[in-house]
Amino acid sequence: MLVTDHPMPICGDDYPLTVKQRALMTLVHRLGRESFAPRATQLDRDAQFPFANYADMRRAGLLGLCVPESHGGHGADYATYALVSAEIGRYCGATALTFNMHVCTTLWSGLLSEDLDMSDEQRASHQSCQHLHFDRVIREGAIYAQPFSEGGAAAAGAAPFGTTAVRAEGGWRISGKKIFASLSDAADYFGVLCTERKPDTQLSRRDTLYLAVPRHAPGLTVEGTWDPLGMRATVSRNLVFQDVFVPDEAALMPQGLYFQAATRWPHMFMTLSPTYMGIAQAAYDFTVAYLRGEIAGTGPVKRRQFATKQIAVAEMFIKLEQTRNLFLRAIEDARVDPSKSTRLRAYAAQYTIMENAQDLARLAIRTCGGQSMLKSLPLERLYRDARCGSLMLPWTAELCMDRIGREALYEPGETDA
Ligand SMILES: Cc1cc2nc3c(=O)[nH]c(=O)nc-3n(C[C@H](O)[C@H](O)[C@H](O)COP(=O)(O)OP(=O)(O)OC[C@H]3O[C@@H](n4cnc5c(N)ncnc54)[C@H](O)[C@@H]3O)c2cc1C
Repeated sequence: MLVTDHPMPICGDDYPLTVKQRALMTLVHRLGRESFAPRATQLDRDAQFPFANYADMRRAGLLGLCVPESHGGHGADYATYALVSAEIGRYCGATALTFNMHVCTTLWSGLLSEDLDMSDEQRASHQSCQHLHFDRVIREGAIYAQPFSEGGAAAAGAAPFGTTAVRAEGGWRISGKKIFASLSDAADYFGVLCTERKPDTQLSRRDTLYLAVPRHAPGLTVEGTWDPLGMRATVSRNLVFQDVFVPDEAALMPQGLYFQAATRWPHMFMTLSPTYMGIAQAAYDFTVAYLRGEIAGTGPVKRRQFATKQIAVAEMFIKLEQTRNLFLRAIEDARVDPSKSTRLRAYAAQYTIMENAQDLARLAIRTCGGQSMLKSLPLERLYRDARCGSLMLPWTAELCMDRIGREALYEPGETDA
């Protein structure tokens, strides 16, 4: 079921897209409308991974969206990724959210890592690892996942990861457990965040390692069921690592670099929000089309003539524009070592997108009415998917508020003691 016939891109029709961005947006707009949207209902109902959507994206070269052009990818920057992801989210939230995990693995270990301080030796070894990972994506169509959640304080950035790696001949041995690993049924490699366990030393966030574990590595098990409220097609089951060996080239970043990235490139944690920007847009698109009597299988009564509906749509439009403008500003801001205003704006953008996506889905159902929430229509899925956004660590809605409050009131190093 197509939600809308309006072809306007997620950024609005007057946003100054580059030539590359326009071409990519046109491509994903077509894929989303013609292929992802019609498949979304069934995938959601069955909690099945969108393999067909990934086959389409693989064929279209989108798995290499953020792989540098020198390695055969599109070389998309942060803002381009965010725009493309939001456009996908408009048609299938679970595809966009899992696409985030894959593409951002290549973004973090590619473009983002170029901004970090590395020794010559680290840069040389990173380049050879990059070559291996990017080659897998471009030549083999490999999919990477990003499991970091463990159910403790680590994913919030408040403690070292409890999944650990010990040095072994030519590589690392990994043990531990990850929860909510999106793409658990589909990824060829899991980009695992874990802490180096050093003899006689406490675990430290500075010793975080970022290692790609092949899905069939001995000692790795995918376990548990997956039957959640929303984002059902992400299939985010648990991963258990029992002394899993990976060679040195499994590194997605050199030792110590993840900690530097997390400290200096905060927008790396805002990359889940484009999915929900897309859902917010979809809830609005649906409402307009529904009130105009244009949703197939409903009507033929139009409801747009009632003043209450017009006011409700105006309220939704204002909320959508507030959200979109913060989104567009924040994705243009993304850079290494941002200023305090830029960093706080990123938290505010993430908070606004996640909270407003839910609110727009709520307003859409209230405005359109009872028939609009039937399972035969996409709105109730948008409502359930939207609910998940503000729960995503490390920047949950609560933690964004926490950070804004603290960082607005305290300069680095300040205490009240
Ligand atoms: C659909 C979906 C897909 C997901 N996919 C992935 C994935 O691919 N990879 C991945 O790593 N994770 C993924 N996650 C997990 C997600 O990022 C969170 O880790 C998870 O939702 C946290 O659930 P929890 O109950 O363990 O949260 P808890 O850690 O129990 O936290 C509950 C709430 O308490 C607050 N809180 C937590 N820690 C602190 C703290 N130190 N200080 C103050 N407040 C705090 C936060 O607001 C948080 O929302 C996914 C989640 C969903 C819903």
